[in-house]
Amino acid sequence: MLSQFHDPIVAIATASGRGAVGIVRVSGKGLGPFVQALLGKVLKAREATYLPFFDGQGQPIDHGLALWFPGPHSYTGEDVLELQGHGGPVVMQLLMARCLAVAQGTGFAGLRPARAGEFTERAFLNDKLDLAQAEAVADLIDASTEAAARSASRSLAGAFSQRIHGLRDALVNLRMLVEATLDFPEEEIDFLKKADAEGQLDRLHAALTAVQGEAKQGALLRDGLRVVIAGQPNAGKSSLLNALAGAELAIVTPIAGTTRDVVQQTIQIEGVPLHVIDTAGLRESPDVDEVEKIGIERAWGQIEKADAVLFLRDLTRSAQTDYQQGDAAIAAALPAGLSILSIWNKWDRCSPETWAALADQREPGDLVLSAKSGEGLEALRKRLLELAGWQPSGDGVFMARERHMQALARVQTHLGSAKDLLKAQAEHLDLLAEELRLAQHALGEITGEFSADDLLGEIFSRFCIGK
Ligand code: GDP
Repeated sequence: MLSQFHDPIVAIATASGRGAVGIVRVSGKGLGPFVQALLGKVLKAREATYLPFFDGQGQPIDHGLALWFPGPHSYTGEDVLELQGHGGPVVMQLLMARCLAVAQGTGFAGLRPARAGEFTERAFLNDKLDLAQAEAVADLIDASTEAAARSASRSLAGAFSQRIHGLRDALVNLRMLVEATLDFPEEEIDFLKKADAEGQLDRLHAALTAVQGEAKQGALLRDGLRVVIAGQPNAGKSSLLNALAGAELAIVTPIAGTTRDVVQQTIQIEGVPLHVIDTAGLRESPDVDEVEKIGIERAWGQIEKADAVLFLRDLTRSAQTDYQQGDAAIAAALPAGLSILSIWNKWDRCSPETWAALADQREPGDLVLSAKSGEGLEALRKRLLELAGWQPSGDGVFMARERHMQALARVQTHLGSAKDLLKAQAEHLDLLAEELRLAQHALGEITGEFSADDLLGEIFSRFCIGK
């Protein structure tokens, strides 16, 4: 990776397809002569210049704006040129081809199309962003709700990194204290007591727990919750997905077995993305044909991957023995340990007698609703948020990823071991020092202070080209 690092790179930075404006972006060191050869003039730094973009025969490809950001004051930290033209795919391809051709003739033969995320990777390697901020760039682009976008934006501005730096500074102080005592083996425990090492460790632990709580909320905003709607055919699964999404997505028909494949829609409740998946009705019957059978298998596959299952039952058929048996079979087959919300649907058609007759089938936490009239949907939304562990906390949440959560968990483990060693007044304070060093290392993985090349490759390869 590092050997290619100095090659100049070029990419179309805007999404493929047609658009009002399209951008071709070039980054590299010492690009001045290349820019002059390409555009026929010296550009002023950080100013928009309107000019024609010519092809090799001197014919204009387009007229547009050129923006010149000499390094290090640019996104990547290198020289960056941005050409804004009309956003058609052919115009963009021609502009990019022209950049590559001019580079060949002007000593920039190394200019090549950028890999996914390579601009941001350079920004990271040139200390323009730390790793958590670089990840926030991708999370901002991928955000599926407004709240997710706002939290990614806060992470990009450094809110998460600052919290990590706060923890790191406290940890460094404690490490200095412990390592200083290593030189005075006779008095080390007394020394640590006087300096309230245990108190410092406790405060650090509490601060870490607070960051973990916020990061968990951020990860929820980023990743959302996978919710599967399951139940027998005609229980109203598609109707419930549509009611939650507020649009006609899945095909709703009164014929059993209509939803033969999996339909997914991302909805948001208070900004938390919920990926709601409608599945084929689960039934065992001689009428089940091959296609429906595959749908049912896929439904079970989705259930296994779900964070929560909405187990939907039809109140209008709940008195029928074969229907009850169908529900019982599903209930028995649902994997243990999964969050399951039991929901009775078609409340609008439920008579007081039917409801009373259900007394021995209902559980206290069961929800009752009507996908048709919308009654009871608000309570379901509330329960879904509770299930997700969402705590509305105003504007404070920053975005975090599973990778960050794992690193924070490792910090916690090392701090826990450090505390045990301190409490036990262990003779080997070097072990304590080592636990603190490992905790700091795990924190540094979040911001990229310590990170392996393959991790970086993995992170940046998930970006879009041109970012
Ligand atoms: P699925 O097979 O479980 O996806 O069920 P559908 O959503 O296709 O619904 C099956 C039938 O039940 C359709 O005719 C719906 O209009 C009807 N249905 C769904 N929910 C309700 C409800 O809350 N009340 C009433 N009265 N009918 C409903």
